Amino acid sequence: MAQQVPLDFLGDLRRTHSCGALRAANEGQRVVLMGWVYRRRDLGGVIFIHLRDREGVTQIVFRAECDGSLHGKAEMLRSEYVIAVEGLVEARTAENINPNIPTGEVEIVAEKMWLLNTSETPPFPMEEHVDVNEDMRLKYRYVDLRRPHMQRNVMLRSKISLEVRNELYSQGFLEIETPFMTKSTPEGARDFLVPSRIQPGNFYALPQSPQIFKQLLMISGYDKYFQIVRCFRDEDLRADRQYEFTQIDLEMSFPQEEQIFQTIEPLLEKVCAVAGYTVKAPFPRMTYAEAMQGYGIDKPDLRLPRFWPVEDLFPADAGLTREGLPLVAIHIPSTGALSRKERDELKDYGRERGLTVYDDPKRLERDFPGVVEKVRERTGAGENDLLLLAGWRDEPKGQRPEETVYQACGQLRLYAGQKYNDRHKLLDPTDFRFLWVLDFPMFEWNDEDSRWVAAHHPFTSPKDEDLEKLTTDPARCRARSYDIVLNGVELGSGSIRIHRQDIQSQVFSAVGFSLEEARAKFGYLLDALTYGAPPHGGIALGLDRLVMILAGESSIREVIPFPKTAKGTDLMSEAPSPANERQLRELGIQLRRPQS
Ligand code: ASP
Repeated sequence: MAQQVPLDFLGDLRRTHSCGALRAANEGQRVVLMGWVYRRRDLGGVIFIHLRDREGVTQIVFRAECDGSLHGKAEMLRSEYVIAVEGLVEARTAENINPNIPTGEVEIVAEKMWLLNTSETPPFPMEEHVDVNEDMRLKYRYVDLRRPHMQRNVMLRSKISLEVRNELYSQGFLEIETPFMTKSTPEGARDFLVPSRIQPGNFYALPQSPQIFKQLLMISGYDKYFQIVRCFRDEDLRADRQYEFTQIDLEMSFPQEEQIFQTIEPLLEKVCAVAGYTVKAPFPRMTYAEAMQGYGIDKPDLRLPRFWPVEDLFPADAGLTREGLPLVAIHIPSTGALSRKERDELKDYGRERGLTVYDDPKRLERDFPGVVEKVRERTGAGENDLLLLAGWRDEPKGQRPEETVYQACGQLRLYAGQKYNDRHKLLDPTDFRFLWVLDFPMFEWNDEDSRWVAAHHPFTSPKDEDLEKLTTDPARCRARSYDIVLNGVELGSGSIRIHRQDIQSQVFSAVGFSLEEARAKFGYLLDALTYGAPPHGGIALGLDRLVMILAGESSIREVIPFPKTAKGTDLMSEAPSPANERQLRELGIQLRRPQS
């Protein structure tokens, strides 16, 4: 076992450079590096070590002929040992230059080496391109976080947070904290509850968002608020969901939608620049209705072409779709001719979602001469592209039946688009297409409870011209809400809020809260609205998703240092875990057997 240095050893020794910093220009300098042994090649008389820290790696050379005892010490180094090295920067000979690392033109000829700590053999390879079982990575997260791609992701996240702060401060926003131990907030998920010890039987809820508090801050006159804030929602976890996640949350007094967009667009331009990408505002905008009619989804991925309603091009009795429901032409570029099997797959996929899919343009041409030409004109589909028609022949379904059809078509479009991406290559992850989607419906129908629920949250203002529909036609009442979407991912949502108590009460009643319920849950907000509430509005962006996309990852777990598994477990600390009897007693809690 190699000799370790005393605990107080670091006394005088100072790191002069990070492992990723050295270049040809440093040649001849005496440097001290500290880091982890990443790779080790032992060629007998010469040992090469790649020493790694968060900035990168540098090659260290130990030559037996120069210093036998130092070389002997280097022989004992193993993966992930922590060392300090002092030596001279030397240029590598042309044939030894390593173009794969930024420091590849130089190496350090070691003169002294200190072993700061040993390491168990890491539970998995440290190389970034080796696929490692995710449970192992999460169990040994502290080792996993040391792997170069995780270090890049975590550093990118930090830079993005800083840029967000800089930009919002420069736009006159104040960073203000809001409580974590609070009362239920209505973002539509389950709350996490925290029992109160000194008020047994009472619970705080962790905030699903700071929504009500940020509105109260506007009522209190703070004008422009932001916070990079943790939110807590007890809902099923997926690649883009965690119980606790981070929002860039903001709120402004006296804005129209336009001011919110003008706040967010430069912010996103700058954040993308930090990640090395150029995006240009203004971002395109479309209404929710347009998004549905063109993409069948409220978060369109603009990298694939839209689809088109084409029922008007066919004779009224064509029978391809039910009367009153759309017939949709879906166009995916450059797929080439598909085999029978491939076409059947698409038809089956559509059928499972209620669609009747027509995949044979020749047959359509035979049955409806001249029409396919017009469909091609409208969609822009060429001979080498996939062109599908989809209609709905069953009973209409849902509160907005045409949307049910569009949604199914939207799924088919994405399915086909993703399936043939290797042919058209349009889904380039670095082609960042931001989009604003506006004027969402105020309400969504909740089948389980048979009632309308707020599509965004119940503090969202209806559009002035739809105020009456709050009671007469809730299905068609539109809200002053907006989403910012990036490549098919909802990055953030916001709205202009209700600032009048009478309207707020009407909306509560539209979503089925009695006056008493509304008062019990949100009485403080209803009261606050009567004390000079200014018009206000805001938005919240998911920081995890934003960093995920800019880091080129497909799960937010890759950009959250300590995430939980899909079952909500922290594999490292093994949370959640039982509370002990004394804790439960103090909290006045008696456990019931879980109901099966
Ligand atoms: N609180 C909302 C959310 O979490 C965002 C907003 O309306 O500002 O989605």
